[in-house]
Amino acid sequence: MPPPVPERALRQPRYLSVRRSPLAGLGVFTTRAIPKGTRLLEYLGERISHDEAGERYYAAKEPDAFVLLFTVNRKVVIDGGVGGRAARYVNHSCDPNCEADEIDGRIFITSIREIPAGAELTYDYNLEAPSPLPRDWRRRYACRCGAARCRGTIVVRPRRRAVATTRKGRSR
Ligand SMILES: [Zn+2]
Repeated sequence: MPPPVPERALRQPRYLSVRRSPLAGLGVFTTRAIPKGTRLLEYLGERISHDEAGERYYAAKEPDAFVLLFTVNRKVVIDGGVGGRAARYVNHSCDPNCEADEIDGRIFITSIREIPAGAELTYDYNLEAPSPLPRDWRRRYACRCGAARCRGTIVVRPRRRAVATTRKGRSR
């Protein structure tokens, strides 16, 4: 059984730090070994509607802005670009050591294997492709995680219509 959901926003453990990542931009690293099944970070930010998320996505000047949007459920998207904390810096990997779980309308990043000290935390963004799909989507959403089974892209195979490209967690 996973630990109960805390009432307040989960505090960032001291052994996690944000710094430059070889994967992309900033990343989150651990200074000590983490056991499997540890709830590490909460994905925080402004809670908005899918319509609002779509507007922000299309209004964004930075092509990367979209990746900070995280779909919680059919109604709510969290914009990690507004008031988000360390969790927004956890990078994507196609062979990750964490997963993002939706629990009671909140998103938590939890280790799915033992993680050695010094390693970078990652999870699979499961990004929904936007519609219409930009022509340069392969380049724009390219993945360079270096995993043997890298998909080559951080989006899930484009098929369904999505208002904005958002991260998705696993529902529990
Ligand atoms: Zn990859």
